[in-house]
Amino acid sequence: MGLKFFNTLTRSVEEFTPLDPAGHKAGIYCCGPTVHDVAHIGNFRTFVFADLVRRYLQFKGYAVTHVMNITDVEDKIIRRVRESGISLREYTGKYESAFLEDLQTLGCLRPHQMPRATEHIGEIISLIERLIERGIAYKAADGSVYFSIEKHRGSGRQYGQLVKLNFDELRPGERVSNDEYAKESLADFALWKARAPEDGEVFWPSPWGEGRPGWHIECSAMSMKILGPSFDIHLGGEDLIFPHHEDEIAQSEGAGLQPPGERFVKYWLHGAHLMVEGKKMSKSLGNFFTLRDLLAKGFTGREIRYLLLTAHYRETFNFTLEGLTAARTSLARLDECLAKLRAVAGNATAAADAGLAEGFSAALDDDLNVSAAWGGVFDWVRDANRLLTDNQFTAALAAAALAAWQRIDSVFGIGEKADAEVPAEIAALLEQREAARKARNFSRADAIRAELNAQGWTIEDTSKGPRLKRL
Ligand code: AMP
Ligand code: ZN
Repeated sequence: MGLKFFNTLTRSVEEFTPLDPAGHKAGIYCCGPTVHDVAHIGNFRTFVFADLVRRYLQFKGYAVTHVMNITDVEDKIIRRVRESGISLREYTGKYESAFLEDLQTLGCLRPHQMPRATEHIGEIISLIERLIERGIAYKAADGSVYFSIEKHRGSGRQYGQLVKLNFDELRPGERVSNDEYAKESLADFALWKARAPEDGEVFWPSPWGEGRPGWHIECSAMSMKILGPSFDIHLGGEDLIFPHHEDEIAQSEGAGLQPPGERFVKYWLHGAHLMVEGKKMSKSLGNFFTLRDLLAKGFTGREIRYLLLTAHYRETFNFTLEGLTAARTSLARLDECLAKLRAVAGNATAAADAGLAEGFSAALDDDLNVSAAWGGVFDWVRDANRLLTDNQFTAALAAAALAAWQRIDSVFGIGEKADAEVPAEIAALLEQREAARKARNFSRADAIRAELNAQGWTIEDTSKGPRLKRL
């Protein structure tokens, strides 16, 4: 069975066939973070989703190019740069590094290319020039350049491919200040914003005077530069469908660089929001957790990644700390089973158990049905535990099961439980307990065990010595 995705463009589930005539290469573009602050785990739900798509395409044998831009010039960034008095690059560099670090903590593979908007001003200007030449963009009196939706539609193209629009009620894009510029029509959006006093030193020269690019044109310019004018998959959070992605289509197809009959993007995939008590997790509502907040509470990137990967990408998902604690318990079951299988397998090697990997693949082929895929994994854990209890696993069978898990984990990216996840102070307590036991001070050893319990850890005495386990 082939891989299928729900395509926002056609509002239906479609078989994935890449544009590459050889059927081998696949290009993905995901709208990246605006580096004005530390990203919250709602943002990371979308980036983990992009990572899942990339990893699964690789699992299916595609040679993937995964692009994620960095939006490093934008209203909020400019305001903060002005307030802080440091340079744009210095300001955004700090949050870009934090973002990359968080991405790694969450087990996401680094996108192959991460273009910054500020390093593509030349490409952005060329694209705007082309739109002006083609008569669908115009310079307004204040030096800003706008995209004319009316002219675009007049040239026989459709505006409103991802959403159904009522042109009488069309509102301007969120990131376009309505009163600021002299636009011909309310619906038109800015491609180039003329330099304003509040922009401070953040501006670039252009044929239309000093200014800076609009947000939408950045993604059109960078995605087409790297992946070509027509590429396979574009994704982002559902809030980007309109106006951001609609405007990306208008600009990119308006420039007319695609081969005849081909669209800017073949498959548009949108991830649903991470919610908190029924509301979208967002900076503006103040109901957010950053990854760092959760790490400080003792959770691991692995646990958070697992939780984010348990919900189907098109379902809104309510984030709770209880959910995260339950994720920890599920992972512990999986880890325990894997550890036992490793003990049985020893040095044996074997080809992956086909049944397990096939069930996984059938589930993910179905528009990335992670719930069914995890269901299969935990059924397998239950069966494996039963066989382990009955001593029915041979080393070869255990090795085959572990090899199948390796295949699955190349997509889920959960990895192994790292000993490094035991905090230093907890490890130190264990050492003190061992020392107390050696000194036959059993009441002290028991007190330390109780202290570890109180902090959420238990000690398992194994043949290889004591091991710490989370309660
Ligand atoms: P931003 O940094 O605001 O440009 O957002 C980066 C990405 O995070 C975009 O793809 C957004 O759609 C996505 N996003 C923002 N809030 C949420 C949320 N609560 N749940 C899932 N994705 C989100
Ligand atoms: Zn974008």
